[in-house]
Amino acid sequence: MSKIIVLRLGHRKTRDVRITTHVGLVARAFGADGVIISGERDEKLLSGLRDVCEKWGKKSFEISFVEDWLGFILEARNRGWVIIHLTMYGININYYIKELKKLLHKKKNFLVIVGAEKVPKKVYEIAQYNVAIGNQPHSEVSALAIFLDRLFEGRELIRSYKDAKIQIIPTTNSKKIIIRNNDQK
Ligand code: SAM
Repeated sequence: MSKIIVLRLGHRKTRDVRITTHVGLVARAFGADGVIISGERDEKLLSGLRDVCEKWGKKSFEISFVEDWLGFILEARNRGWVIIHLTMYGININYYIKELKKLLHKKKNFLVIVGAEKVPKKVYEIAQYNVAIGNQPHSEVSALAIFLDRLFEGRELIRSYKDAKIQIIPTTNSKKIIIRNNDQK
């Protein structure tokens, strides 16, 4: 199975807490296998994301911080990972999506990079794919969600997790949940 890890560049503790949390939530809910955060170290943010996995399942979802983001990207690339940078300056997703799906079927691992403020030029050079979710500015949250949804063609939206403590029972006009105590055998 290929692995998809999201790297969030340049997190700023006070300004980006909500957006970076949403990047992590989208990565988890839309089928990625983990989120790695770089920029300012923010343990509270990491533990908030871990709490979500504890309650809603997918404890295998990797959540961590990396100081040396450049070394991390270069190492991933040297290990044969496909480096994808989401940027409005890139080439439209419609052009690349077939090729990316083929790589996914070949079980290639993907590192998907999203920025915060200005993304260093180096990232554009190291990435094999600079992918635009359209060439208009919007957000790392929307860009990531659309990218993953296109890659998985909506299959990620029907996943449920055996290790979840809370699970939603979809209904047409009310709120229904099941609460499980997975600690009890
Ligand atoms: N001015 C910044 C730059 O130089 O990249 C953009 C900042 S934007 C608020 C934050 C992140 O959202 C970007 O780094 C990129 O990952 C993502 N993003 C925003 N619009 C995008 C688009 N149209 N396509 C792909 N990614 C996008």
